[in-house]
Amino acid sequence: MLPDVEVAVRLQAIDLRISDLQKEIAALPKHVAEIEKKLSAHERRLEKDRAALAANQKERKRLDGEVQIFEAKITKLRDQMLGAKTNEQYRAFQNEIDFATKEIRACEDRTLDLMAESESLDKSVKGAETVLKEERQIVEADKQRAEKRTAEDRRRVSELQTERNADLAGMSPHAAATYERIRKARGGIAVSEAVDGRCGACHIALRPQFMQELKRSEEIRVCETCGRILYWNAPKSPEELGGVNALSDAPLRR
Ligand SMILES: [Zn+2]
Repeated sequence: MLPDVEVAVRLQAIDLRISDLQKEIAALPKHVAEIEKKLSAHERRLEKDRAALAANQKERKRLDGEVQIFEAKITKLRDQMLGAKTNEQYRAFQNEIDFATKEIRACEDRTLDLMAESESLDKSVKGAETVLKEERQIVEADKQRAEKRTAEDRRRVSELQTERNADLAGMSPHAAATYERIRKARGGIAVSEAVDGRCGACHIALRPQFMQELKRSEEIRVCETCGRILYWNAPKSPEELGGVNALSDAPLRR
């Protein structure tokens, strides 16, 4: 394989890894935003329940005040009744007392309803508070994980970018420019392996004559259909595939 093509194959692997990492970096804030959105929906529901509970207590206080006013009125009417001169006057006072008593009963009934309502609201507020506390902890841990992952991804991308710059600098300027041009034009894939007489990227059959030229590897060859840099790996010999002889002949690594 031409040294430039060999570097291009490595560059391609680096660029694919960079692209995967960048996709992950872009996806993590969306993931965090989604879990935060869910959390804030739960927080809003709790706020609504808390507001309903406060309104309930306020209404009970108001009804309590009304009961006191009616009770004071009844006391006053009873005093006035003592001074009634005629039956008509007496009955008029009695009617007013009856009306006030009815009003008091209505207030008390409404208070009982509100008390029952408040009990269930109180229970749901307390339950939601417990759940939210747990949820906030989970979300916080999730966010921290995402932030850590993003920082790791960014560090790895910068390492890979250093590697790719070194590889590009090691190629002939023409090969480097060709690689970059095809990568940008072909969705990030600039290099393709010729397998079984076909381009591994577009899968179109390569002319036998073209295959012969590619195997001779005298210059960079691009696929005549998709325009990607093609490379061809000679079938491996039994030794290269890891036979017994290959193992015994292999130099010891230090
Ligand atoms: Zn092709």
